[in-house]
Amino acid sequence: MTSQRHRPVVRVLLLVSVIGLIVEAGFRQDTAVSAQAGVTDVDLDRASGGRTVALRGLTGGRVESVPLEVYVARVLAGEAEPGAPDATMEALAIAIRTYATFNIGRHGTDGFDMCDTTHCQVPRPANATSRRAALATAGRILTYRGRPAEIFYSASCGGRSESASDAWPRSNLPYLRSVPDDVHDDDEPWTLELSLEDIRRALARVGFEGDRLRDIEIEARSGSGRVTRLALEGLRPDVISGDQFRLAISARQMRSTAFSMQKRGERLTFTGRGYGHGVGMCVIGAGRRARRGESMAQILAQYYPGLTIEPLADVPAATLTALPPGPSAPAAPGGPAKGVSVRVPRPSSISAVELERLAFGAHTQLSKALGISVAPVTVNLHESLETFRSATDRPWWVSASAAGTTIDLAPAALLAQREGLEPALRVAMAELLVAETLSDRPLWVRVGAGRYFARQTMPNTPRLPAPPRNLQCPSDAELRLAISATAQRDAESRAELCFARAFAQTRNWRSVK
Ligand SMILES: [Zn+2]
Ligand SMILES: [Zn+2]
Repeated sequence: MTSQRHRPVVRVLLLVSVIGLIVEAGFRQDTAVSAQAGVTDVDLDRASGGRTVALRGLTGGRVESVPLEVYVARVLAGEAEPGAPDATMEALAIAIRTYATFNIGRHGTDGFDMCDTTHCQVPRPANATSRRAALATAGRILTYRGRPAEIFYSASCGGRSESASDAWPRSNLPYLRSVPDDVHDDDEPWTLELSLEDIRRALARVGFEGDRLRDIEIEARSGSGRVTRLALEGLRPDVISGDQFRLAISARQMRSTAFSMQKRGERLTFTGRGYGHGVGMCVIGAGRRARRGESMAQILAQYYPGLTIEPLADVPAATLTALPPGPSAPAAPGGPAKGVSVRVPRPSSISAVELERLAFGAHTQLSKALGISVAPVTVNLHESLETFRSATDRPWWVSASAAGTTIDLAPAALLAQREGLEPALRVAMAELLVAETLSDRPLWVRVGAGRYFARQTMPNTPRLPAPPRNLQCPSDAELRLAISATAQRDAESRAELCFARAFAQTRNWRSVK
């Protein structure tokens, strides 16, 4: 198997908002309204201990400073069934507060904490039940080794949750492991019928080539039984990860990767369990556990084994420093990523936090290597090839484009099938940083420098081969107007070799021409 095409999905996040999709009959109407039923925003403000969330819509609007517990009550109202049992509401309130605390710095470069879309968490007008649950759990979050924990939810695990390391192989969240959930015995499996041609068309939209999908096979499953890899006979690439496959088809129609597949000629029937990625708390399961008498603490212990419920006051300030270190880029030291901001579509196979971490690492290391600083840099991850192409005017085989202080990236699922998101991002970041200094040189100098320095700052990248004797530096047209993906790759490789040859003589990238 080749190395790049099996590069795993970085992560698929279906955050708290998934909870909003659940319509589960049978929630007991909560009539036992206690003396706390009259909780007001004033009470919640007082319980927030001065902590606030600077909240803004992603589309703009003014930034609103909301007391933390008012924010929790509002998100809970947007995400939970109002009639859910108290223990479920309280477990969710703690999870929502933990999520907000961990992710508080994600919009730091834009001057606010959280947006009000599914990118962060979606607030709605609070109600009596959500206010009561926020107040009952005020100031308490889940921690791991004394810090706010990075946590996830999904709507339904279908009987066994997924480990974070299987869902997102780069992650290091040992408390998000696969656990059996014994409240799903009566679940109706979901089914989805598709033809091979339906699947081919869906995959073509995310960049797969080939006129006919002849066959599809499940090649590998994770420890929890979820599909992690499928073989695609007749397409290029001829393999796709389970998560990317689900996103390409439709995360709503293909509710999870916990499925089996029956083939009858050209028609396929997918039969599966659960809804969402299955990592962390299972919201359907949390409701059922509360109804059979489990407490908030028991519910959280089931889905987040190894995490502690702690008062916020005892926990050091929560920022991106709590992110697990990745294999190559360092987490932002001491706070949110400075100098980079990211835009990520939903759904996406990479979270905004993860992309921000990669972009920050690339920006920091390359700025240092080049001795140059350009900030702020905006990274736009595109939802589709169409939006990428219309924003950049580049052909479909181009993975990333840098112009001014903006980097446009092709869809994450597509990059994972090519060289990988991080290498593409690094090349674009390096090109962006050298662009102004090298603006009066032939294009190969800039393109070559981008590839050369991206390679230098990425561990585990193959070394540059020795240049051939008859090396010809590519013309601007060869780089800009390549007629095929192969021609483009060839021209870019020659640009890098030409740059490396010239750079070896002076060791000063600014003087290469
Ligand atoms: Zn956001
Ligand atoms: Zn479950």
